[in-house]
Amino acid sequence: RNLATKTLRFGMLPADGIGHEVLPPAQRVLEELSSRKTLPKLEFIPLNAGFEYFRRAGVALPDETIEVMKNDVDGAIFGSVSSPSHKVTGYSSPIVALRKHLDLYANIRPVSTVDGKVDMVTVRENTECLYIKKEELDTLGDGSKVARATRQITQNASERIGKLAFEIALKRDKVRQSQSQCSSPHTEPSVWSIHKSNVLSVTDGLFRESIKAAHKSDERFSKVKLVEQLVDSFVYRMFREPQLFDVCVAPNLYGDIISDGAAALVGSLGVVPSINANDTFAMAEPVHGSAPDIAGKNIANPIASIRSAALMIEHMGYSEAAAGIYRAVDEVLKGDKVTPDLGGKATTTDVEEAVLRAL
Ligand code: ATP
Ligand code: MG
Repeated sequence: RNLATKTLRFGMLPADGIGHEVLPPAQRVLEELSSRKTLPKLEFIPLNAGFEYFRRAGVALPDETIEVMKNDVDGAIFGSVSSPSHKVTGYSSPIVALRKHLDLYANIRPVSTVDGKVDMVTVRENTECLYIKKEELDTLGDGSKVARATRQITQNASERIGKLAFEIALKRDKVRQSQSQCSSPHTEPSVWSIHKSNVLSVTDGLFRESIKAAHKSDERFSKVKLVEQLVDSFVYRMFREPQLFDVCVAPNLYGDIISDGAAALVGSLGVVPSINANDTFAMAEPVHGSAPDIAGKNIANPIASIRSAALMIEHMGYSEAAAGIYRAVDEVLKGDKVTPDLGGKATTTDVEEAVLRAL
């Protein structure tokens, strides 16, 4: 990449609740790196989406936002969207729609602790499995109801997510090797293939075979150990020995569940980042929701959002800039300038300033 001439454009979609409070700190951290030429020139384009916008405009994801996201930006940061507990006519989640429109086939969520006990990332297939939403309700001969759902696992989608998992394992290993002091529990890169092929031998069987094929598809991947892990015992081990796990790749439904579980390993939703990605585009998205209970009080933890922005630029190839952000955030987490969710008294703004100083 030509750092001198290129301008990177990022779509900014705060959406709902604390999304409005945690996006500006992420933007300022990126701007700081840009002003020091660690990143190119940046432009941020505010875009509408979310439940609050739906209530004003009658649509959760306007066409204009989709157009800009598809054609005019190099990446995007999404805040958080509130999910109404009851069904609201005409409303559907803009984040799910954006993943579809942009074919963001992977959801990548790293969790780590500064003491080095946890350093894992879940790589979740994001386009199929039970979430193709082919459900039907039927009536049996005795008049009782039966509900069925179709689960789709394709070789292509599974191999694609597998290859990405191996690429990520290699990248993480490279970063660990380059650090003089590395707190990670991993000495060699590994990919854990999460499935239930002993019971679902056709669908999970295909997923399992496809991950194996992905492992063999590139000579470079032979450096990475592939480990098979049934999903139920994975959950048990994840809570008891989280230090075992490096990169965990899973079909959509298992991935959804284990990545939320993994977030519980690290203390607060306020520190867990994610990106929704394909090979050329990433949309950052902190894992937490809109947190209506604390919205508007300037106490939301901006770290999930800042780390998500770092993941996004890392995915784009700016790994040094990203590493700088991770280090700064870890330093802040070791101190006492943290928000109430981590037991501190700092405000959102205090944490932003602390991260900028640590940078
Ligand atoms: P939504 O419907 O938008 O998901 P929610 O009520 O489920 O809203 P979450 O955002 O999922 O709320 O948060 C669950 C809990 O974690 C809430 O008590 C919230 O205050 C807390 N929380 C979430 N994100 C943060 C954050 N960034 N900083 C501090 N606390 C947070
Ligand atoms: Mg929630």
